[in-house]
Amino acid sequence: MHKYEKIEKIGEGTYGTVFKAKNQETLDIVALKRVRLDDDDEGVPSSALREICLLKELKHKNIVRLHDVLHSERKITLVFEYCDQDLKKYFDTCGGEIDQLVVKSFMYQLLKGLSYCHSHNILHRDLKPQNLLINKNGELKLADFGLARAFGIPVRCYSAEVVTLWYRPPDVLFGAKLYSTSIDTWSAGCIFAELSNAGVPLFPGNDVDDQLKRIFKLLGTPTEHTWPGITKLPDYKPFPLYPANPLWYHVVPKLSAEGRDLLRKLVVVIPNHRMLADEALRHEYFYGFTPP
Ligand code: ADP
Ligand code: MG
Repeated sequence: MHKYEKIEKIGEGTYGTVFKAKNQETLDIVALKRVRLDDDDEGVPSSALREICLLKELKHKNIVRLHDVLHSERKITLVFEYCDQDLKKYFDTCGGEIDQLVVKSFMYQLLKGLSYCHSHNILHRDLKPQNLLINKNGELKLADFGLARAFGIPVRCYSAEVVTLWYRPPDVLFGAKLYSTSIDTWSAGCIFAELSNAGVPLFPGNDVDDQLKRIFKLLGTPTEHTWPGITKLPDYKPFPLYPANPLWYHVVPKLSAEGRDLLRKLVVVIPNHRMLADEALRHEYFYGFTPP
């Protein structure tokens, strides 16, 4: 622990506090994340430690590198590669303007990182702009990977802020517990639309009900006929039967026709009809694109 000198606090997220720090031996700048555990008196659960250690094996340029895991009886400190800022802060500074080439590049990198993790059977489950880190040279990296499995999907942030529902798919909002990679591709689709609109979220719901309503008003309300099994989901409740709104041009006016097509294949209500991350990378929206 003494190896790292804290420089400043950079964030307070779902699981704890993040500091910018310097490794005194190598002089490298890192991000230290101190994870708070709900059951402080129980100590660090071994299941969580096992999960975390698996994350050390994830090595990809679009995943924030986990250099080290330090743990004492009561807390875990994760040592990550340091990045310049997160995507939410980037949106705050871009003044409502974003180059559609930047949108494509960020989306490509997001899908690359996602596809790598999915191929290692690791889900993110909490993808959102705050969990995407970017560097000044235009690199994008996924952060907070795998923590949801180690510590459970968060309901409340450490800072008592309620966890956002904006990026959650309808199956999860209806209480589905069997997660698959489709949970992340939904979130990736929501982020794609938000990127294209320079930070205006696609479905900014206030609560579960409002969240589902916003989704169904755009995509149409599913029924047992269109989505067999939906009425058996733990928290299922019927909604007014909204028709699908075909006017995607109004949803993402700056996005190209190919981009709109990709978006429509990611934000699909029925989970197993959603496009996979590696399929999305082969979509024509990326034809001719040279990654950074
Ligand atoms: P939590 O699990 O608590 O949500 P995060 O890893 O998402 O924690 O970190 C919270 C915030 O701290 C992020 O939204 C980001 O602004 C900042 N942050 C986290 N990790 C890094 C990092 N490696 N480099 C720079 N900033 C980071
Ligand atoms: Mg986070």
